[in-house]
This record gives sequence, structure tokens and C-alpha cells, in this order.
Amino acid sequence: MAELEGLEFGKSDFVLLDEVTMEQFMDNLKLRFEKGRIYTFIGEVVVSVNPYKHLDIYGKEVIEDYRGRELYENPPHLFAVADAAYKAMKRRAKDTCIVISGESGAGKTEASKYIMQYIAAITNPNQRAEVESVKNVLLKSNCVLEAFGNAKTNRNDNSSRFGKYMDINFNFNGDPTGGHINNYLLEKVRPSRLFLSFPFFLSLCHSKSSSQASNNDSLCHKAVMAALKVIGFTTEEISSIYKILSTILHLGNLQFTSDGEHVVLVGEDTVKHISELTSTEPENTRKALLYRTVATGGGEVIEKGHNEQEASYGRDAFAKALYERLFAWIVGRINSVIEVKDYNPALHGKNTVIGVLDIYGFEIFDNNSFEQFCINYCNEKLQQLFIELILRQEQDEYQREGITWQHIEYFNNQIIVDLVEQPHKGIISILDEACLTAGKVTDTVCLDSMNKKLGQHPHYTSRKLCPGDKTMEFNRDFLFYSPGFLDKNKDPLFQDFKRLMYNSSDHVLKEMWPDGKMSITEVTKRPLTAATLFKNSIIALVDKLACKEPYYVRCIKPNEVKSPLLFDDGRCQHQVAYLGLLENVRVRRAGFAYRQPYARFLQRYKMTCEYTWPNHLMSTDQEAVEAIVNQHGFEDDVAYGHTKLFVRTPRTLFTLEQERAALI
Ligand code: ADP
Ligand code: MG
Repeated sequence: MAELEGLEFGKSDFVLLDEVTMEQFMDNLKLRFEKGRIYTFIGEVVVSVNPYKHLDIYGKEVIEDYRGRELYENPPHLFAVADAAYKAMKRRAKDTCIVISGESGAGKTEASKYIMQYIAAITNPNQRAEVESVKNVLLKSNCVLEAFGNAKTNRNDNSSRFGKYMDINFNFNGDPTGGHINNYLLEKVRPSRLFLSFPFFLSLCHSKSSSQASNNDSLCHKAVMAALKVIGFTTEEISSIYKILSTILHLGNLQFTSDGEHVVLVGEDTVKHISELTSTEPENTRKALLYRTVATGGGEVIEKGHNEQEASYGRDAFAKALYERLFAWIVGRINSVIEVKDYNPALHGKNTVIGVLDIYGFEIFDNNSFEQFCINYCNEKLQQLFIELILRQEQDEYQREGITWQHIEYFNNQIIVDLVEQPHKGIISILDEACLTAGKVTDTVCLDSMNKKLGQHPHYTSRKLCPGDKTMEFNRDFLFYSPGFLDKNKDPLFQDFKRLMYNSSDHVLKEMWPDGKMSITEVTKRPLTAATLFKNSIIALVDKLACKEPYYVRCIKPNEVKSPLLFDDGRCQHQVAYLGLLENVRVRRAGFAYRQPYARFLQRYKMTCEYTWPNHLMSTDQEAVEAIVNQHGFEDDVAYGHTKLFVRTPRTLFTLEQERAALI
């Protein structure tokens, strides 16, 4: 049990700190990390510190320890949260979600995998074949998405370049029946970097010259192939995936030069390969790389030759788009397999959901770009949801139950969210406007207009954008403007490439490019910008989360060098601060760590009091509960609501649990 660990391991719940100060919080976090206790509660929230070493705490026996138990009965663990979310879903038919946040390398993806494994382990005790197969696909989908979506970065060897939200559907038995995956902002990197950093790309190249293949690469490659087959990808589809990946690699090798008058391709062979791989006519491929079709003002359609820079730009945009669409298609394909079909609530009972969100935390690099802007905006939004849900829900419940609420000071970051997303006035709107303006609006011009419109905003600070000064802060160091924003937001891809792909005789490839069907004169409506698309998807995500009962895992990265031994105080404190963990503890302490309806409390602890056991002598459940509380001397630690008992500290409950255990 948590408390039985003894104080040499620190406090297992931050609400038990003597005082809620940053110093005490950090001391406890550090002590626990050094003792190999990487998890600590804040009430129902689990704080996790990446151990950067294998810990023997995820095995079958541990799963059994947590299965069906109450949160406070065991030491803090991901499994405790997973079980709480599962129990709420199964017993109370609530949709729940587990939000895992933290910066890159903090351990989010690993945590999401352990949570999925836990849920897989505790469901379907009768081993029904159709449920097993759903579970298998859900677990295998991780492997595939990682193979295509992860990259080796400085900060994390296996960094997810996409955010993932996965809904798992359950039937009335509490067994998984299917699911749905949403992915957010797959970072598009240069094709040459793709090749270097993605494990699956590496394994693909190495499989050609098997003498070079490292064991790890070929293992990864085999696992991905196996996973693709389990999920149900056909041989034709797998072959198309390979061809698209090879196309991206070849595009990375394609160079242009100029013969003085025209842009020419270096190495016609590469074009031939590309057209073979994409099942297109070589002549059309060549044209798409060197020209673009434009409609003149008079409605005439002409072919305009690229200059060298435009050609390179077009090639890169094409490679990125191929990659992005492939990834989206794979996600869609997995969804088509795991989607719950023909679910009849009248026949099968309520279909409930557990959502698992694994999404990148705040990112601050030396060179911050559009992707960091989007990621940081998304985190402000999630933080906002966290504050809203935890605080407002607590407050509302106290009000309903007639318990006095003490006001808690906290930073409401709605103001930051508004700065970014407000229609007409927000940063994204101003960016979009600049992108839609005809002619060449430069980053500097865009920034000027932003300064004019937002200069008065309390969280907007501005510096001039000049060469060498790479970033411009919007607020709190989290949001930046940097050169290239406009291009990335416009994210233009010449229609010629779309048309080329749509006309491919490879069905799988063609399916990914439905917008290539439009002719040049039809392509007048501008597609939504990257920032607006991202904003819309994040707003939809927040709506989805907001209607579920939330559980949180807050991940912390102990150091920048992936060391199991080093606890970098400064870096950790920074993370604790912007994750709002102290505020979280304060809310929990000002409030009550635990609450339960009188009848249920009585049911569980009646045997610990002479007035309620063996016979209930009180006229109401509330009176009976009061008798139990008084007998143990816990009067100062509780409050009586209209329907529920509120308990301030987990310790009280723990004592009751011990007594109960001794009696039964
Ligand atoms: P994130 O998704 O937050 O970027 P990951 O989950 O990919 O981070 O974790 C980064 C690395 O840290 C993993 O590849 C693994 O080596 C290590 N790690 C994370 N969590 C654990 C854990 N619970 N036990 C052991 N190692 C871990
Ligand atoms: Mg990750």
C-alpha cells in the first residue's frame, strides 16, 4: 500500500505535503525519483518522471494488484489511473478519457502503451475470439503508427511527430469492441531528413542491401510487416505503401539545374523510377516537376515553366504531401478495421468509451518554427481544459452539495488561447489574412500588421524580425513567430501534382488524392490554411474530451541527456510550473481529496463502528456516517454535503481501509 512504502520514499500523494510550496514539491519529486518511485499522485492525477531505465513494475502480478482496486489502495501507478477510468466506464457507464501530457521525451507514448496493455490485460476474461482480435488490432496499430510517424530527434530517440487520440469502445460487458484514432499535425520534415530519421525508412533502405541491415532495423521492419498483416492490410496495399515510400526517397535525390534558359532535371532516370513507382506516365511526371498549369485572367489555361527555386520548392512540397497523405490514409485504413459496426444499443446495451490522448507538450527549441507554434497553442488549449474541468467541476460540486468553497487564485490562460484563436483579431486570423492577400506578403509585413493589431494585448510582446533574430515571442516564451510562418501556413502544393497522382493507375495511391480530380478552372476556392485546419481539429478534440470524465497523467522529463541518474532541478521545476501542478495540489487540498455518497461510504465502512455494525441504529445514512467519522475522531477532516461525505486527506481513508481490512 502507498503509505506502507514508508517515508524514506517520500510522500506518495502531493496533497500530503506539509506545505504546498515549490520547494517541498520538488524535494518530494526528486526523492521519489532517486528511490525509483517514478509515480506520485495528486489526488487522482498521476505525476510521472521518466526513469530512463527498465523498471520491473508492469508485469502480470502488478496488473493483478491494481485490477478492480480503489485508487488509494495501492502505490501510485499508471495502472491505478487506467483502472479508475475503466471502473468509472464499466460501473457507472461513463465515457472517460485519459489525458497524457508532458514535453517531448517525458514518457507519454510509453505511458499510453502501458495503459493500453493494462486495459487489454483486464478485459475479456473468457478469451472470446472476436474481442481478442479487436484487442490485437488496437495494440498493433501503435506499432504501425510509430513506424511511420516517429522520428529520431535530439531530445527523444523515438519521438512521435504526431499527436494521437484513440477512442476505445466497450460493450456492456466492459470488453473492447473497437476504436477510432485521430491524428494531429504530423510534422512534415524535409524528405532528406525523413530518410535519415524514420526507423521504418531506414529499415526499408537497409533491406535492399541486407549486409548493412542492423539487427534492430530488421526487427523493426519485421514487426511492422507483421502488424500491417494483422490489421488486415492487403498485399496490394502494402506494396503501394512501399512504392510511395520509395518515391519519397527518390524525390529526395532529384536535383534541378538550369541550361541558361530553362530549368532541367539532373538524371532523367530518377523521373523514370518515380513514374514507375507511382504508375504514372513519365512525360506527365516530368511536366509536373518542371511546369505548373495556370489559368490566366481571360480564362485561358497555360503551362508556365518553373524557375529553379520553384521547381525545388514544388518537389519538396510534393514529397511532404505524399508522406502526409500516406500517413492519413494508414490511419483511416486502421479506423475502417477497428470501427464499431452494427452496434445496436437496444440489443447490446450502452456503448461506452475510454479515450487516450498522447500529445506533444510545450516545445521550445533554439529554432522554433510553425510546428512549435501549433504545438504550444494546442498545449495552452489543453491546459485551459484541465483548469476548467478540474477547478470548475470541483467548484460546481461543492456548490451543489452546499459546501463552502474557498477561492483559489490561478492563472486562467483563456486570454492566451483567445490571443491565438479569436476570429478576426487572433494571431491565426492575421496569419490567414496575410496568406490570402494577393501578391507577396512577407513575414516582416505580416509581423508588422500583427504588431499593429495586437500591440496593446497584455500578453503580446514584439521584437522586430531581423536576420539572425530568429524568433519573436508572443507570450510566456511558448509562442513564436519565425521566418517561414507564412509559407508553412499556406502550405501550397501545385495542383499539377495532385492531378498527376489522381490519374495514377495505382488504386491505393489514387484514393489518397481525390482533390486531384478538379480541373484548373475549378480550383478557385482556396483550401483552408494549415493553422486553421489545426485549430479546427484541436477545437474538435477539446469538445470531445470535455464531455468525458477526465483522468490525467502528467509526464516530466528529468534531464536532457536521457540519464536514469540525473534529476535536473531547473528543468524539472520549469515543467512542474507550466504543467500547473502546484495549483493542482492547492485545489485538491483546499478542496477534498475524496468524496462518496453516504450509502456507499456506509456500505464500505460500517463494520468499523459499533453504531453501524452489526446493526444500523441510525435513522439516516448521513447520521450513520457521522457516527463512523466521530468514532474515529476524523471530524476535522470531513465535511457533510447534501448527499455525499467529503474527506480532505487520503490518510483518513487509508486508516479506515486498514481497519476494514483487519475486520474482514
Ligand atoms: P514522449 O512520447 O513523451 O516523447 P516517450 O514515451 O517516447 O516520450 O519516451 C522516451 C523514452 O524514454 C522511451 O523511448 C524510453 O526509452 C524512455 N521511457 C519512457 N517511459 C519509460 C518507462 N516508464 N520506463 C522506462 N523507460 C521509459
Ligand atoms: Mg511520444
